[in-house]
Amino acid sequence: MTYNLKWAIGWLTDFSDRVIQNNQLLSDLDQAIGDGDHGINMARGLTELKKTLAEKEPTNVKEAFKTAGMTILSKVGGASGPLYGSAFLAMSKATEAGTLTQAKLIEALEAGLDGIEHRGKSHAGEKTMIDVWEPVIHALRQDELTGDVIEASLQKTKDLKATKGRAAYLGDRSIGHLDPGAYSSALLFQALLAQEELK
Ligand code: ADP
Ligand code: MG
Repeated sequence: MTYNLKWAIGWLTDFSDRVIQNNQLLSDLDQAIGDGDHGINMARGLTELKKTLAEKEPTNVKEAFKTAGMTILSKVGGASGPLYGSAFLAMSKATEAGTLTQAKLIEALEAGLDGIEHRGKSHAGEKTMIDVWEPVIHALRQDELTGDVIEASLQKTKDLKATKGRAAYLGDRSIGHLDPGAYSSALLFQALLAQEELK
């Protein structure tokens, strides 16, 4: 199975649509443990990304990831802009110009996760988007990624205490809330699964 340009545009567009649809929920989650802007931040950047992809279609997967990274980096504010931006730019760097195999897609996602960890100086267990990225990539490697895996990873962020990002200021009071960045990352991987089902 190969991952081509049509797949990449489909994935990025579906991710954007899901975030735009859920932007109020994402901001509400951020209101509880942050500053309430995650949905607005992401929706702004991803609306722009959809526009850019439609107006100037990339020629391959590598370029599509680069467009996503550059657009998110320049249009999404807050911590999540640089983090998602770094992820997609790292994915682009790790991708060759043609179509991707499943193994290459996983390598690219691993590079994306490294990009987030490097930019955020963070790792799993700190109640961030990484707590979705890491188990999802692990499941993909085992060829066991399902919607339930994504949902379970997201739900686990509820019990974690934030030690990175704005939520870390709350200390123990961050416990009991879902992490907004983990939620938007769950949307990213749900969109990935949905594309898989279209194949
Ligand atoms: P801000 O916190 O600047 O307002 P957003 O609200 O857009 O930015 O994004 C917050 C999300 O970013 C968090 O829910 C978390 O998932 C993620 N995040 C914040 N800091 C880090 C970090 N250092 N490493 C990884 N993810 C982080
Ligand atoms: Mg915020």
